[in-house]
Amino acid sequence: MESNIKKISRKDIVFLKAYKSARKIGGNGNIWLNANEFPESSMFNLNNIKLNRYPDCQPKELILRYSIYSNISIKNILVSRGSDEAIELLMRVFCIPGKDSIMTFPPTYGMYSKIAEIYGIKNISIPMIDNIFLDLLKIKKYLFKTKIIYICSPNNPTGNIINVDIIINILKLTLGKVIVVIDEAYIEFCINKSIIFLLKRFSNLVILRTLSKAFGLAGIRCGFTLAHSDIIKLLKKVIAPYPLPIPSINIAIQALSKTEILNMKNKVLKLNNNKIWLLNQLKKNNLIKHIFYSETNYLLVHFFNAKDVFHILWNQGIILRQQDHEMTLKNHIRISIGTKKECLCLINALKNISLN
Ligand SMILES: *Cc1c(COP(=O)(O)O)cnc(C)c1O
Repeated sequence: MESNIKKISRKDIVFLKAYKSARKIGGNGNIWLNANEFPESSMFNLNNIKLNRYPDCQPKELILRYSIYSNISIKNILVSRGSDEAIELLMRVFCIPGKDSIMTFPPTYGMYSKIAEIYGIKNISIPMIDNIFLDLLKIKKYLFKTKIIYICSPNNPTGNIINVDIIINILKLTLGKVIVVIDEAYIEFCINKSIIFLLKRFSNLVILRTLSKAFGLAGIRCGFTLAHSDIIKLLKKVIAPYPLPIPSINIAIQALSKTEILNMKNKVLKLNNNKIWLLNQLKKNNLIKHIFYSETNYLLVHFFNAKDVFHILWNQGIILRQQDHEMTLKNHIRISIGTKKECLCLINALKNISLN
């Protein structure tokens, strides 16, 4: 049946390549090391919750718990449907489609540029130097055209923290003119590297957080934006009226209790130990050229022949994340840190490949 839908639709959306999330790429596996999720799940109860009423847009108890956890006052916190939604809300507030630009620094998280593309907002892309350092000279050159700068720290997929002095430098240059977003999705794996202390000093700083990674709650879709109250007020104007389902709110509140936060911190310590073990094992493998220094729950690995390694492991049900979509990361694979057992399976599988 002819639908004519493509003729009715926006042409740029007809030609848009959808974001390829790890979940969409799929695979048939029993070892999932492709989406930087936490490898184990905590158990939560949802007994006796009522679901006939709409939830609050900004549930007080949840905001209060995050305020206590982050030591940031409630007027400076917004909760959203994952931090992905926050990335989008910021563009809705600050960028006029067809006119304004954001600035991003590949290789980095793909959603900043993808959301900009969907909205018809230009993306000024300034490649990192050697994949890990911000190019301050180039940034300065294009700043006057930019409304929002998205910096991912620790960066996904490389795993390194972005130097705080450079961030301060950028914040000073842009104060009163440009919004600087620091995406701290992985900060719990290196919590002493957070730049949260700069919020009081810079009204143009926005920090993104999530329960999807270290808290092990990717399935409930809960993210937080920390920023000046004037920014939070504007974000509240453009957010959906009921962004989070009541079951998600309920579980998020439980996850931010004192005991569960302690639990999360202990799990992070254990996972960081797995990472060190995995790193040392990988270093002995002759399929590998280079491993990036990582502060997170994943390692970016440069293989001599990433394609073959990826597919052999894929066929064995060990699912990793290729990085070919990044110009400078051909032959690179991102490996999420799993349980000790999963790390061991991966190492054994890699050993077998290098023997053949
Ligand atoms: C996973 C991830 C997110 C998305 O987090 P959600 O809260 O699950 O939407 C945001 N930024 C980066 C860098 C991520 O890796």
